[in-house]
Amino acid sequence: MARHIYVHNPFCARKCPYCDFYSVTDTSCTEEFYKAAIREAELLGSITGENTGTNPLTDIDNRDTVYFGGGTPSLPDSKLITELLRAIKKAFSIASDAEITIEVNPSSVTTEKLTEYREAGFNRISLGVQSLDDEVLKTLGRLHDAKGALDAIEKIKKAGFTNISADLITGVPGETLDGIKKDIKTFRELGIKHISTYSLMLEEGTAFYDRYNKTIEELISPDVEREMYHGTRAFLNELGYETYEISNSAMSGFKSIHNSSYWNSCEYFAIGAGAHGFLGDLRYGHRDDVRAYIEEMNTITADDYKAFLEGNKSDLKSLYIEETLTKEDKMREVAFLRLRTTEGILLDEFKKVFGVEFEDVFADAVNSNIEKGLLERKQRTLRLTRSGLDIANIVIEDFL
Ligand code: SF4
Repeated sequence: MARHIYVHNPFCARKCPYCDFYSVTDTSCTEEFYKAAIREAELLGSITGENTGTNPLTDIDNRDTVYFGGGTPSLPDSKLITELLRAIKKAFSIASDAEITIEVNPSSVTTEKLTEYREAGFNRISLGVQSLDDEVLKTLGRLHDAKGALDAIEKIKKAGFTNISADLITGVPGETLDGIKKDIKTFRELGIKHISTYSLMLEEGTAFYDRYNKTIEELISPDVEREMYHGTRAFLNELGYETYEISNSAMSGFKSIHNSSYWNSCEYFAIGAGAHGFLGDLRYGHRDDVRAYIEEMNTITADDYKAFLEGNKSDLKSLYIEETLTKEDKMREVAFLRLRTTEGILLDEFKKVFGVEFEDVFADAVNSNIEKGLLERKQRTLRLTRSGLDIANIVIEDFL
């Protein structure tokens, strides 16, 4: 069974005004954090053995994956990152064909760091470009400019990486569809194989949330936002990127296996402050508190960690249970996660796992959305239509 591991690296050079991911700019405990993360990897490896890991819902590419996200994993000394990756590979007996990704920022990634990442086994880079328009980058409060992003792509390629993903943010004040298309065209010319496009959201607790008076309409009208979404998606497809999830498009053979594991209800382990995991019936996480994380990982015993993962111990300093899922919760999650993908719900796989037909469990939601033209059935799959994708969040509400 494949194993999926998410590592949250909770340090950033500066907080971007739109970002609600957990990260801190006080990097004074960086070394302690990575030592604690190594201990967590070793503990988890010893507790869970080699066989944990499930992928019940599809027969997609299901190799092992490790994903270093954040925060900004490219900010710390690369030795700290590569030591942690080596510890994870050893503790979990990660297969040699695993997909191993690291998110990097143009402002902190260097040729030396990239070379070390590659030597340690990283084989996929996710680059936080967000835009190739300096004005848009300024609005987003990013530390890099367009030239910095293009330089970073060159460095990544020179270091030998071929599996490269770039992020773009759409719906930023001042941004145009033509500008987004220009960025995508540049990515295509530079050999970027995977593009994630995220609509700018106003998340509570961020500087943007206050600045734009708490309403997304202050930023962009819903009609323009939809036009950008369609225009972006159509252009991506025109250039050979297949959209396989609402926000993700890739050239053939370059879908993110790690992200797909989330949408396929696979189990995944969480390492690091602010990281969230899913094992058996448990959705669990580490609190957004790097100090509490370090303290806990330096003191917790394997027995206590095991008891926590088995649901017999809760509310530790850093670790906490978010939710214990019932069978009904899991079925709702499948609907929620899989309807975001263009593959949709695989009805035979669903029946195999849950012993019931998806269309019996969600009869009302399925029938009403098919009638409205928002959902379509193709042989043994159910998926959102183009109009359904437009209002995916509203359609998915019917299944929750
Ligand atoms: S660099 Fe990334 S994680 Fe850090 S604050 Fe900016 S968007 Fe958030």
